Amino acid sequence: MTGLFLPQRILDAMILQAEAEDPIEACGLLSGQERIVREIYELTNADDSEDHFSMLPAEQFAVAKKVRAAGMEILAVYHTHPTSPARPSEEDIRLAFTPNMVYLILSLMVPWRPELRGFRIHDGDVVEIPIQVFDDQDFDPAQDYVI
Ligand SMILES: [Zn+2]
Repeated sequence: MTGLFLPQRILDAMILQAEAEDPIEACGLLSGQERIVREIYELTNADDSEDHFSMLPAEQFAVAKKVRAAGMEILAVYHTHPTSPARPSEEDIRLAFTPNMVYLILSLMVPWRPELRGFRIHDGDVVEIPIQVFDDQDFDPAQDYVI
């Protein structure tokens, strides 16, 4: 399992949420199947902070339930870096507990050019993974790529 396929509409939703919550870090979960993202769940940053975040357990639990009921799985955790690059902070690395999760970071450091990068983080090791953004309308990654 390497990269993640992300519909453009979900990237757009993440950017809108990021801009709406700026300067607070925004966060949420992405669900899907295989490596293809299908849904976005915007969550509350319980820390209400400009340089760290934590998700509300009750919201996380409710999302996990919906995702399971839909026959999907949670593929990625995302959060924003309003003023810093799209790289995991020391705290992001320390608090990444799920080896198979993709950790997405959306940076608003250059406001007119939001930057999204994805990582797997395990035991302090950070590996960047490719994020392939696709247009829902005319592209089916399941047919165009070997999953
Ligand atoms: Zn961070």
